Amino acid sequence: MTDSRPLPLTPRIEPDTQSVLAEEALLRQLVDGLGSPLNVVLPDALAANVEAFRAVYRHHRLRGRIYFAHKANRSAALLRRLAAAEVAVDVASLEELQHALGAGFTPDRIIATGPKNREFLWLAARTGVIVSADSPDELDELAALGRAPVRVMVRLSGFVSPGVQMISRRSRFGVPSEQLTEALDRVEKHAGRLELVGIAYHLDTIGIPEKAIALEGCLTALDECRRRGLPVWSIDIGGGFGVNYLADGEQWERWTSELARAVLGHRPPLTWNEHGYGLRNEAGTLRGALGLYPAFRPVSGAGYLDQLLSTVAPAQRRPLGELLLDSMADLDIEPGRALLDQCGLVLARVLEVRSEGPDTLVRLEANARDVSLEEHGVLMDPVLIPHRSDEPTEVFLLGNLCLESDLITRRRVTLPARPRPGDLLAFVNTAGYFMDFSASRALHQPIARKVAVHRAGERWSWCLDEHYWPVPEREEAA
Ligand SMILES: *Cc1c(COP(=O)(O)O)cnc(C)c1O
Repeated sequence: MTDSRPLPLTPRIEPDTQSVLAEEALLRQLVDGLGSPLNVVLPDALAANVEAFRAVYRHHRLRGRIYFAHKANRSAALLRRLAAAEVAVDVASLEELQHALGAGFTPDRIIATGPKNREFLWLAARTGVIVSADSPDELDELAALGRAPVRVMVRLSGFVSPGVQMISRRSRFGVPSEQLTEALDRVEKHAGRLELVGIAYHLDTIGIPEKAIALEGCLTALDECRRRGLPVWSIDIGGGFGVNYLADGEQWERWTSELARAVLGHRPPLTWNEHGYGLRNEAGTLRGALGLYPAFRPVSGAGYLDQLLSTVAPAQRRPLGELLLDSMADLDIEPGRALLDQCGLVLARVLEVRSEGPDTLVRLEANARDVSLEEHGVLMDPVLIPHRSDEPTEVFLLGNLCLESDLITRRRVTLPARPRPGDLLAFVNTAGYFMDFSASRALHQPIARKVAVHRAGERWSWCLDEHYWPVPEREEAA
């Protein structure tokens, strides 16, 4: 039986985003004035995400810093708003560090992570931010740069847990956990020039068991530091808390099972050139693995942190949150994507709509790098502006590069009506990684401008991203 109903993947849209999407005239004016594509960030939406994480800290009676992983979005407005919200920031390049200092973060609220060049290490050491060191050699380099002791964390990777059959994937970052002794020797060698404040990890996975092993590994490493008399006080568990992108889990189930059927040839294809997103048909058997982000994730963001802290440690057999509390260590986290949940959208203008056989092709004034959902394997439908709903229509979205591969997404998306040239499509919830991380000037086309849309009393107002400062409004003169 062929299921021929449309297969929508409806995005989850919270009230702030919904209310901005209702401002059709404003959005149209912005795109007319500033060009398509246009990035819209919503600094007001950050507060709820920060508060959700803080509530988890309170629930587990833990203390520690929330470092926003800056790499998820280049926006100045979002960064400044987080500085005002007493959040901290994780910077991964010289330029991000400069940006954070200029946005109002004091050095005690900055951590430097990622691959570092000498200039980045120098500025980090001069300003006194915490550096998460990826190797013993980086510790040597830092020790040689600092005037006062440089505060460092040792980032570990490749954790193993006694008796647990689980191999964590290899990482190019961090000191392999079995080399902890060597790293601590190095710290001690530079006593007076380095000050070890704690142990860190960041795993690019959503698997709780893998993270539980890593967190318990950090607790063990912390004990080792203390045995050596190093006064450490923090465990930094990185980011990767995730976002739930879809409104309806059943749509996701249905779409993924129909994709499998299509790959096997049991129904017409859902994708451009029968792309299988990692699945393939080998003589009638489904092979491969779905290379997609699980777009429907009922447990994500702060809820995921809560779940991790409630997970029983594989070796010590007590909840990780309790073990952390007993250790008296701060719990530091580095959420990127999760802090930006519902904090922005990308607008793109429809240039052309044409029919080709059974297919409707919609060409946009934007390309796959401007809205890089596909690159990150996150699938969700855009929102049609103006809002019209006559007949749900499945369309392919083509980009503005002269490249065969430039499809905004390789799946057919479902719109509530057939779009017309001049309409806008809004790709919602794209602030985390999908907005400016991959944008390029291919074909000399400009990179999208970015505006901050914020509340002004009952209405929405806007300014260029770089002009946004979270300065309280003056009291009206009487
Ligand atoms: C990218 C990164 C993060 C943020 O990851 P998210 O998945 O966006 O939460 C945190 N820490 C480090 C070291 C990173 O490289």
